[in-house]
Amino acid sequence: MAQTEIPLGKRKRIALVAHDHKKPDLLAWVEFNKDLLLRHELYATGTTGTLLEEMLGPVVTKLFSGPLGGDLQIGAKIAEGEIDVLVFFWDPLEPAPHDPDVKALLRVAAVWNIPVACNRTSADFIISSPLMDETYARLVPDYQDHRDRLKRG
Ligand code: PGA
Repeated sequence: MAQTEIPLGKRKRIALVAHDHKKPDLLAWVEFNKDLLLRHELYATGTTGTLLEEMLGPVVTKLFSGPLGGDLQIGAKIAEGEIDVLVFFWDPLEPAPHDPDVKALLRVAAVWNIPVACNRTSADFIISSPLMDETYARLVPDYQDHRDRLKRG
C-alpha cells in the first residue's frame, strides 16, 4: 500500500488521558517529566486536564470529560492530524461506561500510526526518545483503496 509522509515538527502535540484509578500514575509521571512536557503542546480530556493544570498552570487544551465524548474528540483530532502522541493510561481492571470510545481512540491511533503509551514504562520510553525533540516523518498508508472501494467501472 502506498504511504504518505506526514511531517512532525520539533514541538509535538501530546494528548494525555487517564482513567480515574490511573490518574495518580499519570500525575506522578507528568510531575517527573514536567520540564520535558512543557516544551510541547498539551491536550487532555476534561478531568485529567483540570488535574494537570493544577500542577502545570493553564497550558493544557482541555476537551470534554472522557465519558462525555472527550476520548472521541481526541480520536477526531488524531484523524485530522492534530495530535502527534497519545499517552492514555486506561484501566485494565475496571469496566468503563465509555468502553466503546476507549476502543475507538486506541483504534484510530493505530489507523494513523500515532505513538501510544498505555502505561508509565511505555510513556518513559516515548518521552525519552530523541525523536521527541526532532522533526520526524510519520508514515501513513494513503488508504486510497479504502476510499475507492465502492467505485464502479
Ligand atoms: P477524564 O476522562 O479525564 O474526564 O476523567 C478520561 C477518560 O475516562 O477517558
